[in-house]
Amino acid sequence: MFFERVIPKLLTWYQQEKRELPWRETLNPYYIWISEIVLQQTRVNQGLPYYFKFVDKFPKIDDLAKAEEEEVLKIWQGLGYYSRARNMQKAAKMIVNTWNSVFPNSFNEIKKLPGVGDYTAAAIASFAFNEAVPVVDGNVKRVFARFLGIHDNIQSSAFQSTVFEHLKEVIPKNEPASFNQSIMELGALVCLPKNPKCESCPMADYCIALRENLQGILPVNKKRTKIKKRTIHYFFITDENENCIIQKRSTDSIWGGLYEFPNVDNEDLIFPNSLFSEVISLKEVNFEVPDKPVGITTHKLSHQNITAVLWSLKSTQLVEKEYFKLVESSSLNNFPLHKLMLKFVEWLEKPKINNGTKII
Ligand code: SF4
Repeated sequence: MFFERVIPKLLTWYQQEKRELPWRETLNPYYIWISEIVLQQTRVNQGLPYYFKFVDKFPKIDDLAKAEEEEVLKIWQGLGYYSRARNMQKAAKMIVNTWNSVFPNSFNEIKKLPGVGDYTAAAIASFAFNEAVPVVDGNVKRVFARFLGIHDNIQSSAFQSTVFEHLKEVIPKNEPASFNQSIMELGALVCLPKNPKCESCPMADYCIALRENLQGILPVNKKRTKIKKRTIHYFFITDENENCIIQKRSTDSIWGGLYEFPNVDNEDLIFPNSLFSEVISLKEVNFEVPDKPVGITTHKLSHQNITAVLWSLKSTQLVEKEYFKLVESSSLNNFPLHKLMLKFVEWLEKPKINNGTKII
């Protein structure tokens, strides 16, 4: 196999150049799992504090299994993709209840855990249990496509299978963990998406992209994501005692399980009067239609560009409902909040004023 020729050099390079990271110093599958899930959403430097917070708060899998969901989401707050945190807790409960708190130790068993796909299962199985199963993430696919000069779309499942099957044949049985780590590390440090550092690459002697000057063309990466534009109106409704109402998002939605102000989608930037009455249906909210919002901000998600408009309304009396929680405005930070809500809360503490409307 073509790839086999560079493996010794690649492994030597990894031993010399690898970054010292806490999850590389452990064989504990639980900690490795946490690191992999955290790193699916963010870069190493931004992910490190989340990893430490998570491990500190839930040092054992039993701690995660028995925690309140809100505690888990609070630690995860800011990372996004909250379904991953909820799935981790589901998986922790499954390990505690089904396997007596013993982490499953093979690729096929690990894959049965909620929220764990091929990549994460392969990472845990190889790093913690030395199973010879290759990891295939974005870094690995980029290195593979360039090194072998492959022009297939790296987003396709066919390409994913090609990489997996090829690497399965060549992965060294005696050091699968180092092999997997070395390709991922090469993608993170040397074979960068833009301006790869071919001059310091241990695979340069046999790399087709380098030989044919294709680094700017490969990998072929055609994403099908269509970006949707949304305008969401949020309602900060307070009573005379400075209480406000918040609601919990359903678990099957983006930001699932996190809290936010009641809200409604509407393209116009004017106050959505009829929609407000429909959605809120709070007789107690004896409000005057505000002529301008008190805050506007924008937020980008992978599939959506959101314009968020914040309206402030006063009520003489608010009561808790099945779907609304009545809380002190000053205690909002005690709840797990999504990024937009964090912006709102930060602004409510320190507003910036621009022509009468606060720009967040
Ligand atoms: S030689 Fe350049 S393009 Fe080829 S694998 Fe190394 S860094 Fe990537």
